Amino acid sequence: MSGPREIFRTVDQLATRTPTLPPATHTNSYAIGGRDVLLVEPATPYADEQRAWLAWARSLPSRGRRPIAVVATHHHADHVGGAAALTRELGLPLWAHAETASLLDVPVTRRLADGDVITLAGPIEERWTVLHTPGHAPGHVCLWNEDERVVIVGDMVASVGTILVKPGDGDMGAYLEQLERLACLDAQCALPAHGDPIEHPTGLFRWYIEHRRKREAKILAVVARSGPPGATAEAILPDAYDDVPASTWPIALLSVRAHLEKLAREGRVRETPGARYVAAP
Ligand SMILES: [Zn+2]
Repeated sequence: MSGPREIFRTVDQLATRTPTLPPATHTNSYAIGGRDVLLVEPATPYADEQRAWLAWARSLPSRGRRPIAVVATHHHADHVGGAAALTRELGLPLWAHAETASLLDVPVTRRLADGDVITLAGPIEERWTVLHTPGHAPGHVCLWNEDERVVIVGDMVASVGTILVKPGDGDMGAYLEQLERLACLDAQCALPAHGDPIEHPTGLFRWYIEHRRKREAKILAVVARSGPPGATAEAILPDAYDDVPASTWPIALLSVRAHLEKLAREGRVRETPGARYVAAP
């Protein structure tokens, strides 16, 4: 925890320590709104960090700001580790997408859906539009303020560390589609869950898409080279990730699997017995 920080007039950030994916160590929470305030990301599960988070939330009314709800962008532990304790302590409702709600044991009072507009009363009324952006997690949402051209992006991109899309709760195809959608917003600033605010983020959104497409092309090339009986994800990994340190391979293996799932769904590779993949004819 490094102390709260004002990002804009009506957006404050507090980073707290969380069990997140290294090299990231913290998750950002945001207080948005000039009078009615949403607290985004009840992230930290640690008691000392929760005390700091609560002190931050309780300091807002002295500046004329009144928290009305806590919002979780998605269900991962480094985003909702404090959901139960922090909403209970503040007596605030938790808002999240229905897919996130179904994965939490904390009651979700309002289910956020794509296109919902949350109006925050204040000296300047703020309107934040909910964007359902699945891919990293099925119920992932972003919050978009079109007037200020600011978007809270959760784990869609990060300025510290990498974004993991893994089979199970991740979907590489959906993730790329949603990055494309974020790139089309023409946002001035993106506020990620990990790392500093990103000015003019369109280029970064496009870079993420490009990076994944290049990786996918490499995976496809390795599959094509392998021939029958096909290659396993483990066998594809060293060639597809030959440009990154082997220490990252355990995580990279999950990405290989997510890409293979997408390619199989698109009919570009075929899964054969023994979890091997061959190029589709
Ligand atoms: Zn996440």
